[in-house]
Amino acid sequence: MAAIFAAMSGADTLLLERTRDGGRKILISGGGRCNILPARVDERRFVTDSSSNTLRNMLRSWPLEEQITFCEQELSLPLVEEKESAKLFPASNRARDVRDSLLQAASRYGVRFLPNTSVANVAPQEAGWKIETQEGKPIETDRVIMATGGLSVPNTGSDGRGLTVLAELGHTVHPTYPALTPIVAEPAPFAELAGVSARVTISGLDRSRHSTATGGFLFTHRGYSGPSVLDVSHVVTRSRLEGDAGARLTVRWTGLDEAAWEAALTPEGTRTVGGVLRRELPDRLADALAHQADVSPSRALAQLTRDQRRRLIEMLVRGSLPWTGDEGYKKAEVTGGGIDLAEVDPRTMESKLHPGLFLCGELLDAFGPIGGYNFLWAWATGRAAGLAAGQPRRSSG
Ligand SMILES: Cc1cc2nc3c(=O)[nH]c(=O)nc-3n(C[C@H](O)[C@H](O)[C@H](O)COP(=O)(O)OP(=O)(O)OC[C@H]3O[C@@H](n4cnc5c(N)ncnc54)[C@H](O)[C@@H]3O)c2cc1C
Repeated sequence: MAAIFAAMSGADTLLLERTRDGGRKILISGGGRCNILPARVDERRFVTDSSSNTLRNMLRSWPLEEQITFCEQELSLPLVEEKESAKLFPASNRARDVRDSLLQAASRYGVRFLPNTSVANVAPQEAGWKIETQEGKPIETDRVIMATGGLSVPNTGSDGRGLTVLAELGHTVHPTYPALTPIVAEPAPFAELAGVSARVTISGLDRSRHSTATGGFLFTHRGYSGPSVLDVSHVVTRSRLEGDAGARLTVRWTGLDEAAWEAALTPEGTRTVGGVLRRELPDRLADALAHQADVSPSRALAQLTRDQRRRLIEMLVRGSLPWTGDEGYKKAEVTGGGIDLAEVDPRTMESKLHPGLFLCGELLDAFGPIGGYNFLWAWATGRAAGLAAGQPRRSSG
């Protein structure tokens, strides 16, 4: 996106890409369908250690509606909303169409694409920049846009080299961590539930952070996944990296709150605990939660002691979810942390430390939840960087 807008602005644009084709994260995104944008944006759901005001200003530089129009008109990609998740996908449901249409647009505007080229270093010169690649002789240029991504799923081409280069150039890198990654619990306390899913509200809490998400939850062989788990996973990964491991995960397993469960568990006829729970939850999960609360699912409601009822309700609305680790960068959809937003001009995405250097995308200290938010961020910041970097140089005379 950055290259497209730099070239649209009239700049002679060369796109250096480590892999043979580029855009590989787009190819694997959204389960191969590419959740290209959210249908609606809640800016409060972005996470940063920098200023959230700056983050918002960067994001608002290209409003969602304009991004949708660009996709549909400039990229010829009609988008369709998946109503239950408020996610937008290309109508073809093919991530490849998204990647290919971006490359085609770049080529239409005259971007030259140099694949199989790994940038090893980017060094400021008296005038302009020298880009050293592992493959050939250095490239000289007057402006550079870095869009090298984070550390997640390194076999897509992003291995964090860009962050190292920027740190060497004096930029502040907020400690990076895997985000939107599955959680591990071994030995798995709910191993027999692998494959079972539910719609839950999950909260992650440690000494300094709190994150809550409502959505799909999936039991896996190694622990837990699904959008709601991924959305709060950074609380776990950060507490682990900080050596604290004190993060707590709690789950409200259904839409019912305490009062609603009190009412549902009122003794009536021969109804059992399992019978009532199974109305709201998948059968196996209902029974497992009853067992976790130390209550037999076959127990009649009329025989529930006050203590058992309290334990059961506590488990259903604030059940503690044991965990031992996370799947890390190999499965993380995004990298948290990165370049301090305060070191980048929010209008132009130009480095405040190095004129002529522009930064965008995942390498910045920001990420959003599941739902198309991370492409929204990449497209907005990429466009702003491209537009500004592509401007003709103002003459000094
Ligand atoms: C499995 C998975 C699914 C996802 N699904 C979604 C989704 O559905 N919706 C959503 O919004 N987000 C999704 N994301 C997140 C999204 O893919 C990223 O936020 C986004 O791709 C970041 O864009 P970027 O351009 O900043 O970095 P990247 O997409 O990582 O691109 C960086 C590029 O730079 C190249 N590069 C890196 N270093 C060098 C170097 N030294 N020299 C030359 N080239 C280099 C890489 O090869 C790569 O092509 C998903 C991520 C994953 C891993």
